[in-house]
Amino acid sequence: MQIFSIFIILSLAIMLVAYISQPLLQKEQNLEDLIEQEVEKLKQSKHESEISICPRCGNQLKESDRFCSQCGLPIEKKGSK
Ligand SMILES: [Zn+2]
Repeated sequence: MQIFSIFIILSLAIMLVAYISQPLLQKEQNLEDLIEQEVEKLKQSKHESEISICPRCGNQLKESDRFCSQCGLPIEKKGSK
């Protein structure tokens, strides 16, 4: 019966370690998720700053826009011939 009791103690110890380490791992994952979210936000904000703005009305223009959707001003793109 000694082996059986050792097995129970071992399994209890393993369960305890798993129970303690699980929330810690989850917290680390959440931190990584938060960092990834912040990086995505930074990327998006950088991308937004690259989007051209209408010189007449200040409307944000998409890359595909040829005319301003607000005032209809033709958009001249640099580098495009
Ligand atoms: Zn405009």
